[in-house]
Amino acid sequence: MVILKLIIFAVIGAVIYRFLGGKLPLIDREKPSSEKHEFGKIETTSECAVCKTFMTEEDAIIYQRKAYCSNECLEKAKRMKYR
Ligand SMILES: [Zn+2]
Repeated sequence: MVILKLIIFAVIGAVIYRFLGGKLPLIDREKPSSEKHEFGKIETTSECAVCKTFMTEEDAIIYQRKAYCSNECLEKAKRMKYR
């Protein structure tokens, strides 16, 4: 049964595709992973304490155990506290 084999190959292909996070390995290799922050990557995300933006912990600015997306938000938080 040739058709049955084709179906099995299609299923295996789909599983591998899913396993790779829906990306083709060739394309993935061309671009450095740091360029994109997708949900496919397993990383801890932090929420900005000011504007509630989600970012990876790599991008977050940690100040007094709170995460901020940028210096701008960090300054805002400081101003709110010490007023
Ligand atoms: Zn922010």
